[in-house]
Amino acid sequence: MSGEGSGRQAIRRLAPGRLVIASHNAGKVREIRELLGPYGIEPVSAAELELPEPEETGTTFVANAELKAMQAADLSGLPALADDSGLCVDALGGEPGIFSARWAGPGKNFDTAMRLVEDRLAAIDPAPARDAHFVCALALAWPDGHVEWFEGRVEGRLVWPPRGDNGFGYDAMFQPHGHELTFGEMDPAEKHGMSHRADAFRQLVENVLPVSDQ
Ligand code: IMP
Repeated sequence: MSGEGSGRQAIRRLAPGRLVIASHNAGKVREIRELLGPYGIEPVSAAELELPEPEETGTTFVANAELKAMQAADLSGLPALADDSGLCVDALGGEPGIFSARWAGPGKNFDTAMRLVEDRLAAIDPAPARDAHFVCALALAWPDGHVEWFEGRVEGRLVWPPRGDNGFGYDAMFQPHGHELTFGEMDPAEKHGMSHRADAFRQLVENVLPVSDQ
């Protein structure tokens, strides 16, 4: 899997109408709703449809996004969009990566997860570079099994202590390159303009979404 979605030609476009957002993460559902707003798509969440959360058994972001989208499309009979995302820290060999949510433990405590990242970095001697990137894989699946996928990323560095309460997950310790504020300090609209999810969405919009009437 190359992860270079932007270079591929999409085979199928999405018709206006209902689209299942196959995520149980309220922060992600909110961001995806905002990003889809202008495209004549009626987002309905997996939670509203009471769809189960599949086990994420894939070994890549794209594989996990595909698995979630295909299950939701199959169970709902509607096209379904899933994202799988996470933080990859260079000095930790790409960890937490696809396990970003798991590092927060069963209580989904991201103060703990950010502390764990910081502790792991602090244990490396000499002090390593603090480069990191967020990745977002988006998979759009139809009930007949067809899937399109796109992968976006944003590069930055990790700060300590965390700064800002605006975001979710690891936002408060991630400062995108070329910016003074962390994602946690930024206005959500500013983050949406440059995030890994925005990058993946730009590819989705260009390749499969109906033309915006705005
Ligand atoms: P999953 O995609 O549901 O497996 O979870 C990915 C995890 O990565 C989330 O729970 C967050 O902790 C983290 N993550 C993904 N995107 C972002 C983001 O935009 N900001 C902060 N953390 C993120």
